Formats: sequence, structure tokens, C-alpha cells
Amino acid sequence: MRPRLVLAGAGHAHLAVLRDLAARPWPEADVVLVSPHARAAYSGMVPGWLAGQYRWDELTIDIAALAARAGVELILAQLTRIHADTRRIELQGGRGLDYDRLSLNQGSGIRRPPGTEGLSLRPLQALPATWAIWRGEAARLPRGTTRRVAVVGAGAAGIEVPLAISRRLPRLAPQVNWQWHLVSRAPVALPGWSAGARRRVRDELARRGVILHLGMTASALSGHILQDARGLALPMDRLLWCSGAAAPPELAGSGLALDERGFVRVDAHLRSVSHAEVWAVGDCAAFPFSLPKAGVHAVRQGPVLAHNLRADLAGGALRRYRPRRRTLALLNTGDGRAIGQWGPFGAGGAWLWRWKDAIDRRFIRRHHCSESAPVQRPRGDRHA
Ligand SMILES: Cc1cc2nc3c(=O)[nH]c(=O)nc-3n(C[C@H](O)[C@H](O)[C@H](O)COP(=O)(O)OP(=O)(O)OC[C@H]3O[C@@H](n4cnc5c(N)ncnc54)[C@H](O)[C@@H]3O)c2cc1C
Repeated sequence: MRPRLVLAGAGHAHLAVLRDLAARPWPEADVVLVSPHARAAYSGMVPGWLAGQYRWDELTIDIAALAARAGVELILAQLTRIHADTRRIELQGGRGLDYDRLSLNQGSGIRRPPGTEGLSLRPLQALPATWAIWRGEAARLPRGTTRRVAVVGAGAAGIEVPLAISRRLPRLAPQVNWQWHLVSRAPVALPGWSAGARRRVRDELARRGVILHLGMTASALSGHILQDARGLALPMDRLLWCSGAAAPPELAGSGLALDERGFVRVDAHLRSVSHAEVWAVGDCAAFPFSLPKAGVHAVRQGPVLAHNLRADLAGGALRRYRPRRRTLALLNTGDGRAIGQWGPFGAGGAWLWRWKDAIDRRFIRRHHCSESAPVQRPRGDRHA
């Protein structure tokens, strides 16, 4: 019997594995993809969707078509438990599945204090329904109403989201007096970014009237009221959580070696340090070197993972994932411009937005499965 390889989650790196399989089938294994959805959303375009620049269908990838083209069985279900010592996973609905190899690429959740109200930026698939409710409510608010909206978390997504919604909601509901707040426990917005990019972002937030609350560890007093450690309370009408990555809950109790935050510890080959038949990539993995949780890394791990899974099954040398020292980062300001960073260099303008838009649309196009579209082998993709 051929070994069974289970790909859990249709994350960025698994898209590259599917493309590799479609271009050059692997006779060495039966491959199964477990994904709760037939279409996967691409996070890099989500702020643009909030700003009204994209339709939702423009930023989703047809996983079912990709899997069919790759000759991979798709199981539409969520992975709920992993028993690494017995090589078995459980799926939502109670179904169990044995594996010989398991590759984990199910991303991350949002860290958020218990008891809080509001909208989490993950899972992405839940966004359209909640966002539609918010928009509908906003449009019905009486003239002169004040609406305080806070975004919690000032990483890249936490910057793009208030810039996007502070553009969109006043257009949908101009009768409302909107107030925007950005809350972060970090002492600066965009920690880890260059001083130049941070200055541009600060100026942009100020121009849009976004009030910054830095060094504030938000917990929930109740519902929509944020409270910091000193007892300062910030009553809000709406909360949006972009507050850092939380490990997928199914990793706890799996038997896999995890880091202190609950992510799967892997070596430079992307292989679990405790179970050689398990691989993990993207946000759900903890690497032997420090790496921010960013799509750009998950994308670049894809070709290395595809090579290593094939080498593991068929025999061959493994490749190491070597993160680039510098990556291009582009922030959508929601108004036809972007702020960019490359190492210590920062810039801003409409040309950067056009560049980001082109990179993101190319990423989506690469995964289109029309009859005539040629299958492209994975290579050093970009994710802006
Ligand atoms: C709004 C927003 C904007 C961002 N913009 C950027 C950007 O511009 N550039 C950048 O580099 N990074 C960006 N990021 C960060 C980036 O989204 C993540 O680092 C990246 O998506 C991680 O990729 P991944 O392949 O690990 O997982 P994901 O892309 O999250 O994919 C995981 C997949 O697994 C599925 N899944 C989840 N749980 C399960 C389960 N239990 N069982 C089966 N399947 C499951 C999910 O449905 C999803 O399809 C952004 C994040 C957000 C929230």
C-alpha cells in the first residue's frame, strides 16, 4: 500500500505543494488535503477588500479545483485533534484519519482576551458575514450619532485595517460622527519596522484622525469596553482584533514538540523536531531562527516543503529554508497609495500601491485553474 500524506490546511505553502503535484505527480504517495473551505482567502488583499478596492471573490483561491488538478483527495473538514504518537488525526464531525506523513499549514488565530466582544481578523472566512452586518448597521444609524471604533494590535494588519475602514465606513455612513482608535501594548506602532516607515505610518494615521493608544494592554472590562493595566477605561462601540497570532488549538495535546506559545517546533528543513514524519510551515510553525508570522515566509517555504516532502517519500537530500535577510513589505493605506519598506529604506505613494496590487493579483492568478492555464511549478513567489 502506498503511504498516505495528509496536508492539513490550504495555507500558502500547501498551495505550492498542490502546484508541484499538478506539474509533476508524485507516484510515491496518496495525498489528501484537509480544508474546512473549498476556497481559501488571501490575507494580503483583505485590507483592500475592507477599503472597497476588491470584491471578496477576487481574493479567494479555488482550492477544490487546485486539488482536483493535483490529483489530491479533498476532505472538506476542519482538523480538530492530532495524535502524533499514533499517527492519527481527528476531523470535525468525528471522522478519524491515519497518516504516514502529516504536513501542517493551517495558519494561526488571533490572540484576544476572553470575554471581549468584536470582530477577529481570523478566521478570514468569517469576515464577510460580520462585515456585512457592521456596514448595514452603520448605514442605518441616525444622523449625528457618534461611533467609536477601536482596532487592537499595531502590527502590519493592525495598521492597514483602521486605514481601510476609516476610508470606507464614512462613505457608507456619512451621517455618523466616526472616531478611530488604535490600541497596542507595544510602545510604538509597527515594532520591528524601520524608523522611516514608522514615521510615514504615524503621519498617515494622524492625517486620518486615528488616535493612538500605545503601551496599553487591552483587556475587556465588559463587552466593548477596553481597559488597560492602570485601570484606564476606553468605552468603544466596535472592536476589531488584529492582536497577534495565536497557535491553532488542535496543536495543544498533540504530542508534538511545541514552543512556549504553542506553535510546532521545526528544524530548518521544516520538519517537526519531535516527530520526523510531521512537517509544519507558515504561521503554525516555530523555527530554529526568529521569523515574524508573515505570509511572505509561508509563501517562500512552499517550494522547500514540496521538495522535502517528495525527497522524504522518494529518497533524496532535504533542502533548508533560508529566510531572506530583507523582505519587501507593503502596507495598503486604503486610498490608492501604499507605504513600503525594504530593509532600512522606506517610501510611500501611489506607485507602491500599484506595485502591491500587481503582486497580489499575480499571486491569485497563479492559482487559477482554467482548462487552458498552464500549471506553473512553484518558485520564489512574492507576497507583499
Ligand atoms: C488582514 C491581514 C493582512 C495581512 N497582510 C499580510 C501581508 O500583506 N503580507 C504578509 O506577509 N503577511 C500578511 N499577513 C499575515 C499573513 O496572513 C499570515 O502570516 C499568513 O497568512 C500565514 O500563512 P499560512 O500559510 O501559515 O496560513 P494561512 O494563509 O492562514 O492559511 C491557513 C489555511 O488553513 C485553514 N485552516 C485553519 N484551521 C484549520 C484546521 N483546523 N483544519 C484545516 N484547515 C484549517 C484556513 O482556513 C486557511 O485556509 C496578514 C494578516 C492579516 C490578518
